[in-house]
Amino acid sequence: MPPYPSAAPCPAVEASAPRFVSPRAAVSLTLPGHPRSSAVARGAVTAALRAHGLTAYRLPAVLIAAELVAVAGVLTPGRDLYLSLRYRDDVLRLLVWDQHPHHPVPAVEALCRGRRRRALWLLAAVVDDWGGDWGTCEASPPQRGTKSWVTLPR
Ligand SMILES: [Zn+2]
Repeated sequence: MPPYPSAAPCPAVEASAPRFVSPRAAVSLTLPGHPRSSAVARGAVTAALRAHGLTAYRLPAVLIAAELVAVAGVLTPGRDLYLSLRYRDDVLRLLVWDQHPHHPVPAVEALCRGRRRRALWLLAAVVDDWGGDWGTCEASPPQRGTKSWVTLPR
């Protein structure tokens, strides 16, 4: 079995061609807060990584995008979510900004934040395994809602 895809027009040229990796990449999209948006996020992130030569990140990034969008969609059903993927300085950053409101009662806010973090347990394990970092925070005014972010080093 040859070590190259059988669909390549010329396997010898493709095998010796330098791999293209965008030094800077930025892709963003808006999705509805709906369970199907997770699948759309997976497809969009897969395509973006492929287009920018960043397929080494495919496994963690696709799962991370799907988890972030799924949890945000549960917390803000029917409202728009914003997904952003950026690659710069050898770090891939994924961010989901949802419209889940800040709770003025501290105990309620802490409970809500804790539940969001627990819902992202699989993401946390993947990010930790990769050596990355993640978190959530309230969006800075004049924006509203919650931002959940992940950084993955090369
Ligand atoms: Zn809440």
